[in-house]
Amino acid sequence: MPGFELFSDLERKEVNDVLESGVLMRYGFDGARNGHWKAKELEQELQRILNVKHAQLTSSGTTALNVALAVLGVGAGDEVIMPTFTFVASFESILAAGATPILVEIDDTLTLDPKAVEAAITPKTKVVMPVHMCGSMADLDALKAICDKHNLILLEDACQAVGGSYKGKKLGTIGDAGCFSFDYVKTITCGEGGAMVTNNATLAKNADHYTDHGHDHEGNDRGAESHPFLGYNFRISELNAAVGLAQVRRLEDFVAIQRKHKKILKEALATITEVSFRRIPDQEGDSAGFLSFFMPTKELTDKVIIAFKAFGVDAYWNYYQNNWHYVRKWKHLKDKISLFPLSNQIVNGMQDLNTIQFPQSDDFISRNISCLIKLSWTEAQVHERAKNMVAAIKSVL
Ligand SMILES: *Cc1c(COP(=O)(O)O)cnc(C)c1O
Repeated sequence: MPGFELFSDLERKEVNDVLESGVLMRYGFDGARNGHWKAKELEQELQRILNVKHAQLTSSGTTALNVALAVLGVGAGDEVIMPTFTFVASFESILAAGATPILVEIDDTLTLDPKAVEAAITPKTKVVMPVHMCGSMADLDALKAICDKHNLILLEDACQAVGGSYKGKKLGTIGDAGCFSFDYVKTITCGEGGAMVTNNATLAKNADHYTDHGHDHEGNDRGAESHPFLGYNFRISELNAAVGLAQVRRLEDFVAIQRKHKKILKEALATITEVSFRRIPDQEGDSAGFLSFFMPTKELTDKVIIAFKAFGVDAYWNYYQNNWHYVRKWKHLKDKISLFPLSNQIVNGMQDLNTIQFPQSDDFISRNISCLIKLSWTEAQVHERAKNMVAAIKSVL
């Protein structure tokens, strides 16, 4: 992560195909496009690589979540259970659906704590939305069992874990639907883009229409198409899809590099007894986009962060201090600061996030350091980095 580190002639060729035909839109203009259908090809490639029946490209990972919630029939009055540790897109998409985000604790997987999920279920709960943060997965067997027991929808946010798997199935394909982001800093990038995947043909058909103003995509006269239901414009452009098409073909190589680099760093840190690692429910399926570890206390974690700077270690996060990924600094959500009036269901149905406490999440997040695994490092650089990380941590013990 991120895929832009290894941009090459492969990406340039796909983009040039589009520029040479001049058709930047994914639909129509059949004669002018010289046979190039980059968005369509990227969808087929995603279906193949993820072993899933349907993939619908979107303009971003956030809009992929919007589309998923829409086709799953989630709206006003419905509660969606999401983790305290995620990207802001989780609650943005839930609110955009008119639904109510319900935040629950994470555990040592850095993803939804199944016990907290079960405790948060009410008659209004419709969806459980695990977020496979930092390259690794939630405890999907436990979450699926809860969803089956309570007749809830499982929607996977796999935006940070493309290429990962759980017990032999690709992340994003295990729930009723799954979402990916191909924004500029993700493992594979389109510049901006995303995808919703599902094995359900009705959800897929509705997603195809919904992302394009409700167009039914029947026949070959766009203007004459009908609109069976309300939609929106969440389309990706051919230029963005072209970049992604080259990148998705390299996904397996990217994940292999991430795993190789992560193994070196993890083995080095494992020699320090005070360091423990994030629990990964299926170690084999780790996409290895990050190395996430815990120190025994917040105080020691804060010291390691300072030591990392001194020892020249970069590209890591302590999300307790982060504005975007942890509930602690989501003041705009806590105070429900919206440019337009939110519905009564949301205003009255949300938790009071200014008073509710998440002690378990605070504990794990404040003691966590997550290091980005870069694709462009040389093996010598990874070993040098491992040495510096170990020295930095030992210097504060
Ligand atoms: C990046 C990301 C998104 C949103 O993707 P965009 O393409 O940037 O809109 C959603 N969820 C998670 C966990 C992400 O990391």
